[in-house]
Amino acid sequence: MSDLLKRLRGRGWRLTAQRRVVAEVLDGDHVHYTADEVHALAADRLPEISRATVYNTLGELVSLGEVIEVSTDGRAKRYDPNAHHAHQHLVCARCGTIRDVHPVGDLLAGLPAGERFGFAVSSAEVTYRGVCPDCAD
Ligand SMILES: [Zn+2]
Ligand SMILES: [Zn+2]
Repeated sequence: MSDLLKRLRGRGWRLTAQRRVVAEVLDGDHVHYTADEVHALAADRLPEISRATVYNTLGELVSLGEVIEVSTDGRAKRYDPNAHHAHQHLVCARCGTIRDVHPVGDLLAGLPAGERFGFAVSSAEVTYRGVCPDCAD
């Protein structure tokens, strides 16, 4: 059983066939699908699954804190099952591949007091951009 499915089962989340397929599609490392991609992949396994069901299920998974929404390109929101390990993203500017990365050190420490405008700063999101090995030539 996948990590995400295990976590959901552990929480007593009611696993219908449709919810299960959505959770299975989202399982894995470096997974960052848009809702439309999740729907297409889920429909490969369960052709009758509706877009509305996929969207509702994604919304529930986000409210449960088991999936996070990320927006690395300023366009479509993407859904990321790596919700329990703080990470940042590395994005290929050509093909859009996204990797989960773990910068060393405290990101918050990079913001000097003079740039905080009196805010109590609690988190930071960084998107590193570049060109992946497959796109490099
Ligand atoms: Zn690439
Ligand atoms: Zn991620």
